[in-house]
Amino acid sequence: MTTNVMICRGNIVYSKDWNELAAHSDSYIAVEDGRVEGIYERLPEKFEGTPVKDFGDNVIIPAFSDLHVHAPQFPQRGLGMDLLLADWLNTYTFPQEARYADLDYAKEVYSAFLKTLTENGTFHACVYGTIHREATSWLIGQMEEKKIRAFAGKVNMDIQSPENLCETTENSLRETEIFLESFAGNRYAKPILTPRFAPTCSFELLKGLGRLGQKYGVGMQTHLVESRWEALESIRLNPDCSCDTEIYEKAGLLENGPVVAAHFIFPGENDLRILKKYGGYAVQCPDATVNIIAGIMRTAYLADEGIRLGIGSDIAGGHLPGIYTQVGRSVQLSKLKAFYEPEGNRAIPFANAFYMATKEGGALFGKVGSLEPGYEFDALVIRDFSDSFRKITPEETVERFCYTGNPGDILAGFIQGEQVTGKPTENSRSKG
Ligand SMILES: [Zn+2]
Repeated sequence: MTTNVMICRGNIVYSKDWNELAAHSDSYIAVEDGRVEGIYERLPEKFEGTPVKDFGDNVIIPAFSDLHVHAPQFPQRGLGMDLLLADWLNTYTFPQEARYADLDYAKEVYSAFLKTLTENGTFHACVYGTIHREATSWLIGQMEEKKIRAFAGKVNMDIQSPENLCETTENSLRETEIFLESFAGNRYAKPILTPRFAPTCSFELLKGLGRLGQKYGVGMQTHLVESRWEALESIRLNPDCSCDTEIYEKAGLLENGPVVAAHFIFPGENDLRILKKYGGYAVQCPDATVNIIAGIMRTAYLADEGIRLGIGSDIAGGHLPGIYTQVGRSVQLSKLKAFYEPEGNRAIPFANAFYMATKEGGALFGKVGSLEPGYEFDALVIRDFSDSFRKITPEETVERFCYTGNPGDILAGFIQGEQVTGKPTENSRSKG
């Protein structure tokens, strides 16, 4: 059997675990059939003569995973950021989302959204569409074609929503089932149930979605205890549930596949217990929580409790599409949380936040998010951030990139070993 081998040379940095970054200076990474075969200081004999892509002092890192992003809100990023959640939804978001009844409009926006996502080095994402099946189908189809590993969902809303976004329960379930059926065979971009959040979903709808989840083996993404308003409103509508998370458990939505809970800022004991029981992810969206939600996730505490953590851009609650920008912000917020509420909270180091954005977030999608052997080579090459007057280490370059970087600093992006962004890179001859 012939194999397809690619070799890159450069500084290589990735997360080993929650606490530790691995760094290999001036090393080779061998990629076989799209997967990492190994990392070597000196190239082994078996690869002699294989062409090498030489990235010099630049740094090779895993591509990022965005665990919470709203594709339809892309046109409103950076607008209305002085409002709080409920007002922001009614003034900006709902009118914007209503526009996706128009498929041509959707194609224009979603093309730009996906271009921005990939230019920012996000190659894996949990994506919200809108209630509109056709527009959301086009989006998931594009991601599948581009081999972007994703979970994407048609949104469900049947109560307390503007007229042009409010579905009947029956129609919401029927459209969702067609969506699930259509994309059940996808290899990269898979469907996921996406009840917007409890304030816009009747329990009857949630139960119906639970049945569909079981029938098709599909998980769920939603917003969970994201603001005090949302947490209280959810319980007001579902008085026989003790907490927001229990609503989804009772509806049978947590047992069929991955569970992705955006924000999870104000969990009570039961929220924690239930999310942990089903191995769900809590997703921190640092900018969004500062912009419109006004709460800070207890990242260190949740990690200690054994909750799986990821990072989301939450476009357009968050204004920046690059997950790397949110890595730095996650560290900043943990320091604020620990400063103002020291009891039970502590600041997290950079390595923790980078792990959330790469290896831990990536685990939701499969073997992505690391550069250890066996992982898919979904990777970025970022430029050396050393100054002429101060050389910095590869780990420091990654940190500086996450605080000060922009898409122009990403020289190349690879999905399964195939270059998808940046200028084409030439091969040079390997030296043992
Ligand atoms: Zn959101």
